[in-house]
Amino acid sequence: MKQYILTHGNLLTMRDRTIKYDTDILIRDGKIQKIGRNLTAFAAQEAAEPVNGLNGEADAWRCEADTLNGETKFLDISGRYVIPGLIDSHCHYDADYMGKMFLACGVTSVRNMRGYKRHAEYAAETLAGKRTGPYIYSSGPIYDGEDPSIPDNSNEIIRTEADVEQAIEYTIRNGFLWLKTYPSIEPELYRYLLKRARQQGLPVCGHMSKKLDDKVLADAGYYCCEHSSSLPSHKADIRYLAEAGMWFTPTQAVCETLPDYVWNGKMLPELEHFKDLPECERENWENRNRKIIESYRSQGVRPDIRVVIGRGRTFLEYSNRFMAGTDCAYPGII
Ligand SMILES: [Zn+2]
Repeated sequence: MKQYILTHGNLLTMRDRTIKYDTDILIRDGKIQKIGRNLTAFAAQEAAEPVNGLNGEADAWRCEADTLNGETKFLDISGRYVIPGLIDSHCHYDADYMGKMFLACGVTSVRNMRGYKRHAEYAAETLAGKRTGPYIYSSGPIYDGEDPSIPDNSNEIIRTEADVEQAIEYTIRNGFLWLKTYPSIEPELYRYLLKRARQQGLPVCGHMSKKLDDKVLADAGYYCCEHSSSLPSHKADIRYLAEAGMWFTPTQAVCETLPDYVWNGKMLPELEHFKDLPECERENWENRNRKIIESYRSQGVRPDIRVVIGRGRTFLEYSNRFMAGTDCAYPGII
């Protein structure tokens, strides 16, 4: 049995809006057993007064003497905060180093938005305790129609109903939890994909559609719109999606990177912690960013960030079904 006591932390339990200041936390076998003041003394006395547990009920748990001799580790966390693990609801866990980085940022679960076999392996290894990193909930690959505007397009292209069947089969076989779609799938194939996914109980999330009315997607149960920039431009249409029960992940930070890096001359090395990234990743980011800049400049894609943010806000006027995500490791998102 492993036992830890964190001492003098400030704790947010999220059960109410208060912060428990200067609190000790006793963790046994990976689970919080007790919170309260002066648990060190409590543990040392073996039979101290019961301390209120997380659920507010006093219980009669007592430390056993053998766990105190050498097996209890103490960590003074004075002045620090203890919070439940955060969930990054839109990310791309594409590099080994990211696992520890997520944890260092307090992120203990991720919703991975483009999954390959590697992610299925990462997820299994994490659950087995063989990988240090957050729990992974993942889509399969990104499915799209032909879209020449995407530089180095590595998405899976849906050209036939057989491709849809293959996508669903691959998703289920690898334990992925939803399908991710990009907006250029042909309307009839998109309808077919939505129908088949629904039959299989697979949610469909992504960048909506350029070729099909967004309301049609909503009616077909499209589960989640990723990015404020994927929302329709008219307020009534956004309201329709919100009221249809669709979820929404604004990924505010990545919406801001486009104008910043493509048009406003911001450079990646200006980013706080850029220097902390592995060198190969810094190069990777610079290369990808160069391609993104070329592509958007040549297409003249120049979104007004205030308009994009405004669409997200409109959605939130009609729904609280939104999730917070970063879109890391898109270049510029740490
Ligand atoms: Zn993304």
